[in-house]
Amino acid sequence: MQDETLLMMPGPVPMPQRVRLAMARQAINHRGAEFGECLDDINRMLKPMFGTENEVLVISGSGTAGMEAAVANFCAKKKVAALVNGKFGERLYKISKLYSDNVVGLESEWGTPLHLERLKEELENGAEAVTLVHNETSAAIKNPAEEVGKLCKKHDALFIMDGITSIAGDVVKADKWGADVAIVGSQKCLAAPAGLAAVSVSDKAWDNLAEWRPMYLDLAAYKKSAAKSQTPYTPAVPLFFALREACMIIEEEGLENRIARHRNLADAVRAAAKSWGLELFPKLDEFHEYSNTATAICYPDGIDDSKFRGVIKKLGIEISGGQDDLKGKIFRIGTMGATGAPEVMAVLNATLKALNELGYRQEGCGLAAASDILKY
Ligand SMILES: *Cc1c(COP(=O)(O)O)cnc(C)c1O
Repeated sequence: MQDETLLMMPGPVPMPQRVRLAMARQAINHRGAEFGECLDDINRMLKPMFGTENEVLVISGSGTAGMEAAVANFCAKKKVAALVNGKFGERLYKISKLYSDNVVGLESEWGTPLHLERLKEELENGAEAVTLVHNETSAAIKNPAEEVGKLCKKHDALFIMDGITSIAGDVVKADKWGADVAIVGSQKCLAAPAGLAAVSVSDKAWDNLAEWRPMYLDLAAYKKSAAKSQTPYTPAVPLFFALREACMIIEEEGLENRIARHRNLADAVRAAAKSWGLELFPKLDEFHEYSNTATAICYPDGIDDSKFRGVIKKLGIEISGGQDDLKGKIFRIGTMGATGAPEVMAVLNATLKALNELGYRQEGCGLAAASDILKY
């Protein structure tokens, strides 16, 4: 019996032992050379994961701190178009409304395609900034970041991209796509502890820096400190050590290999679900895809969410339910970070047991379908 729960949620995810051990250290002076090296290492290693040559700023705070920093520093008082098809798109919309009185929410049903035509109209009507969640974790749908980037470029609007569950688990090309600000959180595909966010910022975004900025999330202050390999306020030093180790593990695996592994794991989960006769939640069109890092599956009739996840938990594994209106309607399996075939087979086996225990009879052999596909 394992002595810890296997997290197969879309974050947080299990951390490799090297990452955990990196935190078990005596305190150091965060104004000294040792921390500076750590910060510089993280910056250097994160850039390829973002697909950027821009500087990456690391904030002590969860992913949402990165989202708020992006909006507060670069969208305040602007005309903002917020694309929403899930919980996190809605969060960017809400944050935008806190910092601007001129925000249009371009809302789709959660897990359905974004309204790109409406975005075009808003850009033609003078929208100055656009917010997008690349991988909408709440619905496990991948949104068309490259398309949105093209539209923003054409209309010279700032493009704010939440890459919190795509960066380090899927192809992200912030510079090529024209994402002026991209954001990642530490506890998702990076497989680091929760509590850090990193934000990349383009020159165009710096040219749009808001005059009035928050104190703790003032990215101009982060940039100024970064020039001295520091952060403006006392950073969460142990988390930085852990993030550096997590980035080193990603370098060792190779980013392309890591992305391919994530794709393979998500493919396997989807193959199992389909074979069992379950419906995947997202509704796709030519611009939208299934997530590379998480899978959302509709509950068949009669399966109770808390009973279902309770059975899985008793087997030592945690997965996620749906958020807000999706509670009780879907369950979500995360395949982010350091997981591989053993963990995926374990979560699928537990899923099948729970489905059976609650009365669902599967159609085909999903475990075989997944195992045929799994490579890692
Ligand atoms: C998890 C997540 C967030 C929020 O991050 P926190 O670390 O919980 O603040 C934002 N966007 C997406 C897409 C996420 O998956």
